[in-house]
Amino acid sequence: MLDLILPLECGGCGAPSTRWCDVCAAALQVKLDEPHLITPRVDPGVPVFALGRYAGSRRQAIVAFKEHGRRDLVAPLARALALGIHRLLGWGILDAPSTIVPAPTRVLAARRRGGDPVTRIAARATGNHPRISVTQALRTRAFARDSVGLTSADRERNLRGRIKLTRSVTGPVLLVDDIVTTGATARESVRILEAAGAQVTAVLTLAHA
Ligand SMILES: [Zn+2]
Repeated sequence: MLDLILPLECGGCGAPSTRWCDVCAAALQVKLDEPHLITPRVDPGVPVFALGRYAGSRRQAIVAFKEHGRRDLVAPLARALALGIHRLLGWGILDAPSTIVPAPTRVLAARRRGGDPVTRIAARATGNHPRISVTQALRTRAFARDSVGLTSADRERNLRGRIKLTRSVTGPVLLVDDIVTTGATARESVRILEAAGAQVTAVLTLAHA
């Protein structure tokens, strides 16, 4: 039924007659040495891992899911995230049990987009894991501006004191986000979580800009 209403096209490259083509699936594949350790300009104080560059079909898929309501893309994005988590467990960077905390999305923005996108992806990615849970514990306060287009200094100013803990989290935590750009959001999130008694072991993102 849905095909009659929505044009059927790949969420990564726009190819017709498929929702997610083989080429894009290959582009999102997690290689044996991935996720890669990256060095954002703002150091969050814990290792930051990214599954790939924010470009090409990875970028298109994230945008299509977050901005254009392509909820069918949760599956491929969650699969990539699940493999990333699996690698971090295998490398001994992440322990189980651990709690995944999605980086905060602006409340209004999340509501407009039909629920927090990162939480949805993380929940799907860890759905079958008995010892990895997802807790949506961080929110940005309502007056924090969307960070799109801000410089890193602006982002830090924008975020200082504006991320709040909404649920208590203890023990080892993996902070997960869709994109890491300057690292400012990650740093503030790590700070808030550790001040509340959690031990953030790493940050894992779908993409780095
Ligand atoms: Zn494609």
